[in-house]
Amino acid sequence: MPLEVTLIDYARDPLEKLYGAYRTCYTPKTPAEVWREIGDGTIPREKIREFIQERLKTGHASPLEQVVFWFGISGVSRALSHQFVRHRIGISFEQQSQRYVKYREERLEYVTPKSWEKTPGMRDEYDRLMAEITRVYQLAMQKGIPAEDARFVLPNATPTNFQVMVNFQELLHIADLRLCWRAQWEIRHMVAQMRREVLRVVPELGAQIQPKCGEKRMGYCDEPVKDWEACPIGKVRPHKEQLFALFAQHKAGNLAPLQEGELRKVEDAGNE
Ligand SMILES: Cc1cc2nc3c(=O)[nH]c(=O)nc-3n(C[C@H](O)[C@H](O)[C@H](O)COP(=O)(O)OP(=O)(O)OC[C@H]3O[C@@H](n4cnc5c(N)ncnc54)[C@H](O)[C@@H]3O)c2cc1C
Repeated sequence: MPLEVTLIDYARDPLEKLYGAYRTCYTPKTPAEVWREIGDGTIPREKIREFIQERLKTGHASPLEQVVFWFGISGVSRALSHQFVRHRIGISFEQQSQRYVKYREERLEYVTPKSWEKTPGMRDEYDRLMAEITRVYQLAMQKGIPAEDARFVLPNATPTNFQVMVNFQELLHIADLRLCWRAQWEIRHMVAQMRREVLRVVPELGAQIQPKCGEKRMGYCDEPVKDWEACPIGKVRPHKEQLFALFAQHKAGNLAPLQEGELRKVEDAGNE
């Protein structure tokens, strides 16, 4: 059963919503006036884009909660779903029930990690166990054990489906953690597909969805150094400890001070 992520919908005019939310914070105008200007084109779309791009570089993140996406997700394991539902702020889940949905197939479908496939002999062991679980599950149903109790034998590999509603701020936070190399492959792939879906409809926002070390997020790694050393992204992203060490050198006067305008150049390079 393949992983499938579909963007079901997103709240109308996300860039305008963000513009309105940020603008309300920084202008003496009322929201009604701001929205009249958005509506009648006084504020050109390009200006809205530029304004938002600047705001997205800052830590003022609460307006991002006003942009919402809905996703349909299928073919993920119950191992993934345990991880996914730990996110509790700014996200709402509906998940397929194992009480009301019975697995009727001859053989249960289940998610198989590549590590089992790649390890000689282990794919067969895995399939044998899944077949045995299928047999016992179906026997339980035939004997009248209700699905809600029969499911106690189902494994973490059992596939499940979600409809989720998530605001953009929480989607960024989830991506911070779950696009990180330290997250498990399955949830990483799922979040990468969520990013692909957002990129398709609102590229300006999709481009912001990165692991926390991405140049549009923190820009550095704060995971244990040995994990950073093993991570492929670690080849291009600094570790927090390196930055502290550089800063200490800078404070001690062992580094050439940044010239005026250089910090801006460094920021711009990071945002290309
Ligand atoms: C690599 C990795 C390994 C993990 N390993 C384990 C493990 O071994 N065992 C385990 O139990 N879990 C583990 N987790 C899950 C982890 O502990 C969190 O439950 C999960 O990442 C979601 O938590 P969150 O705080 O980011 O939740 P979210 O709901 O996504 O949080 C959103 C934001 O709100 C903040 N927030 C949420 N609730 C509160 C609150 N009550 N008060 C203040 N701020 C709040 C969060 O700090 C965060 O900034 C792991 C996660 C990762 C990414």
